[in-house]
Amino acid sequence: MGSLAVRTPLSVILFFAIGWSPFAVDNLSAADIIPVVSEHQPAKPGVELILINGRIWTGSRSQPWAEALASSGERIVAVGSSSDIKRLANSTTRVIDLQGRLALPGFIDDHTHFFIGGFHLLSVDLRDGATPEEFAARIKGHAAKLPAGRWITGGDWDHERWPGGPLPTKDLIDRFTQNHPVFVTRLDGHMGLANSAALRLAGVTRETKDPPGGTIVRDANSGEPTGILKDDAQSLVYRVIPDPTEAEREDALKASLAEAARAGVTSIQDITSWQDYEVYKKFRDSGRLSVRVYARTPMSQWKRQVEIIARQGAGDDWLKLGGLKAFMDGSLGSTTALFFEPFSDAPKTSGLMVEDNIPVGKLKQNISDADKAGLQCSIHAIGDKANNILLNYFEEVARENGPRDRRFRIEHAQHLLPGDISRFAKLGVIASMQPYHAIDDGRWAEKRIGPVRIKTTYAFRSLLDSGATLAFGSDWFVAPLSPILGIHAAVTRQTIDGKNPTGWVPEQKVTVEEAVNAYTLSNAYAEFAEKDKGALEAGKLADVVVLSQDIFKIKADEIQKTRVVYTIVGGRVVYGN
Ligand SMILES: [Zn+2]
Repeated sequence: MGSLAVRTPLSVILFFAIGWSPFAVDNLSAADIIPVVSEHQPAKPGVELILINGRIWTGSRSQPWAEALASSGERIVAVGSSSDIKRLANSTTRVIDLQGRLALPGFIDDHTHFFIGGFHLLSVDLRDGATPEEFAARIKGHAAKLPAGRWITGGDWDHERWPGGPLPTKDLIDRFTQNHPVFVTRLDGHMGLANSAALRLAGVTRETKDPPGGTIVRDANSGEPTGILKDDAQSLVYRVIPDPTEAEREDALKASLAEAARAGVTSIQDITSWQDYEVYKKFRDSGRLSVRVYARTPMSQWKRQVEIIARQGAGDDWLKLGGLKAFMDGSLGSTTALFFEPFSDAPKTSGLMVEDNIPVGKLKQNISDADKAGLQCSIHAIGDKANNILLNYFEEVARENGPRDRRFRIEHAQHLLPGDISRFAKLGVIASMQPYHAIDDGRWAEKRIGPVRIKTTYAFRSLLDSGATLAFGSDWFVAPLSPILGIHAAVTRQTIDGKNPTGWVPEQKVTVEEAVNAYTLSNAYAEFAEKDKGALEAGKLADVVVLSQDIFKIKADEIQKTRVVYTIVGGRVVYGN
């Protein structure tokens, strides 16, 4: 279906025939207009979908607001007033009356783990378990429903919710999981709890040494592993978890697609394994994708992408390669983010560098090689030192490889040295951030890094003011997929424990429009797709989200109560009716 993603000549004629308003024409380049129709082309469908009576934030500089739009095939053919757009309808056009509701360009999410998200939807949910007892009870309940021998994974637990914040141990769950290996992960994915059955299968004992980039947490008295494995130590267990079958992957993707449609997400910039990529391709080829995917595969295998792109191209509007993902460090929640100074509540450590950059400098070489090959590099960096080193790498590689439209990205860019903030704009590095993390970590971040470092933590405002491109997303499964919750988080910075009603580090808030911009236009730019999406203009993809309330007008406190009414991808309604 992706290859059909071109504006149909007939619709172009149609909209000149009625002398359609000049602002729409402005957005067509000469190349768009000249090849109007050739005699040999079969008739194409006319306008198939029309939205009228809306308050449409278009994201277009020449026409920021409109009432109506029309689409044909996958593209928008006209944007304007309800009365003018209505005239484009034919007998088969579907007309949706928005009844004054707000419509936006479909949300683009700058960072998802879409398949893992789907698996988590289908697994045990520990996210809001408020105590270790509840955590254990939910695993017990889930185990009781599963055939013996089946693994229990996912979970998204959060010990920071529990009184005193103790880490869970295998003793909590061993009693009722003897027949089920368990590896449930913290919601940031940077540590997990294995039960004894899983540790046995993984061969992890008190004699096992910590692998590079990871920690096996041990009981202070006995030296026995407690079951908690941090960062790269998790791979000891991941290695022995059987790969999901293709059918299981397809089920996960179906669950994720439904979740995206519900959330108003029409495009994702995904962190994608090669196995996931194959399933995406299968769904794309059979017309079952309802979200557009920019698939970023592991940087360590960048050559594989180069080969595939050389053979079959980067892809189309539905599934596209071109980006790579690697890691500098761990996470704040797991005290593995790499800082210059030690953690305030764990003074013996200042975090760690993970495998992608061991030995130190390996990552820079990969960035340089991948950049030379024309790929976009996006690297996870959380701690101030990880960000600083990465900015240095980007600066050096850009200098060594020479000028190019490379759009380097730092994923998370969470804790920045004050002096590093302006380097994003200067070096053209995109700050790819996830606002929900701010209101989640904000509950306990000060305890971990103290009152000074939190001032430049999730520094949305400072980054924007310095001229940086700020892109937003969820990091789903780590945080909820909903962009509405993300916008609420960025605008209010109200932590999820309700303890910061006027905002946590409030000087870093952004406006609703800035947040929407970061979920649409900036994200389109962040994946080199600003010509195709991120705004509602004639010629662009008809990806639209319609909301239950006008987030530009309501009190900021109310944004989180907003529902998605319609999600439209390529002119097709995928949510709402
Ligand atoms: Zn992530």
